[in-house]
Amino acid sequence: MKDAIKQIADRMATGQNIAFTGAGISTESGIPDYRSQGGIWDEFKPVYFDEFMSQKSARIEYWRQKAAMYDDLQKAEPNAAHLALADLYHQGRLAAVITQNIDGLHQESGISADDVIELHGNTRRVRCMACGVVSSDHEAFKRIAAGDLAPECHCGGYLKPDTISFGQAMPEAEVKRATGLAQACDLFLVVGSTLLVQPAALLPDMARRSGAFLAIVNLSETPYDTVCDVRIKGKAGEVLPRITRQTLK
Ligand code: NAD
Repeated sequence: MKDAIKQIADRMATGQNIAFTGAGISTESGIPDYRSQGGIWDEFKPVYFDEFMSQKSARIEYWRQKAAMYDDLQKAEPNAAHLALADLYHQGRLAAVITQNIDGLHQESGISADDVIELHGNTRRVRCMACGVVSSDHEAFKRIAAGDLAPECHCGGYLKPDTISFGQAMPEAEVKRATGLAQACDLFLVVGSTLLVQPAALLPDMARRSGAFLAIVNLSETPYDTVCDVRIKGKAGEVLPRITRQTLK
C-alpha cells in the first residue's frame, strides 16, 4: 500500500486534481452507504420519482425513509477522509470534489460550496416540486414530527428533499461541470464508490480516456479495478490522511 500511496501523492503534487466521492467516504461519519451489508437498501425499498409525484402513499413512504435517516445526518461530522481532502484543497492540490453524496460533509469540512459539485443534490434542503422554492429541511421535519406525513408547500405543491430520486432527471449544470472537470484533470481520485450508478459511473472512464491518472480508494470491488492506474483497498479515513501527508511533506 505504501507504494500505491506514494504514486497517488506524486501525482497529487502537480497538475489539476479532482476527487470523486461516494457514500463510502461518509460511512466513518456514521452514515450508512446503500450497497454494503447493513447499508440503506437492506432496510428500505427505493421510492421512484414517478411514484412520489403520483401517489400520496409513496410520498409518505419517502418522507418516512428520510426521517429515519435524519438523526444520523444531523449528528454526522466530517471524518478524517473529508478533512484530508479539505487539507489538499486548501494547499492548492485539489481543485474540486465531485460527489454523489447528499450529506453536505465536504462543505462542512471547509471546501467551498462552489468547488463541491453535487450530482445527486443535498438532503439538507427541501424543494417544492411545483413552485421550486427551496427551504431548509428543519421546518419539513418539524411538520412530520407533528403528524404531517407528506408535507406540502404553501402553493399546494409537493415538498421533496432536494435530492435526485431514481427516475428523476440529473441536474444539468452539475453534470456538465463534472464532465468538463473529468475531461480536463490530470488526476481523478475515486473514494468510496461502487461506481455503479449512472451517469457518475462514466466519469472515471472520461477522465482516463482524456489522459488522467485514475486512482481508486474503496473497500469493495468496482468495475474499474482492472483498468485504473492505482487501486487501494482500504478505509478512506485511514488511506486519505496518508495520501495527504505524503503529498504535503
Ligand atoms: P454505494 O453504497 O453504492 O457504495 C459505497 C462504496 O463505498 C462501496 O463499494 C463500499 O465498499 C465502499 N465503502 C464503504 N465504507 C468505506 C470506507 N470507510 N472507505 C472506503 N470505502 C468504503 O455508494 P455510491 O457509489 O456513492 O452510490 C450510490 C448512491 O448512494 C448515490 O446516489 C448517493 O446519493 C447515495 N448515498 C449517499 C449517502 C451520503 O450522502 N452519505 C449515503 C448513502 C447513499
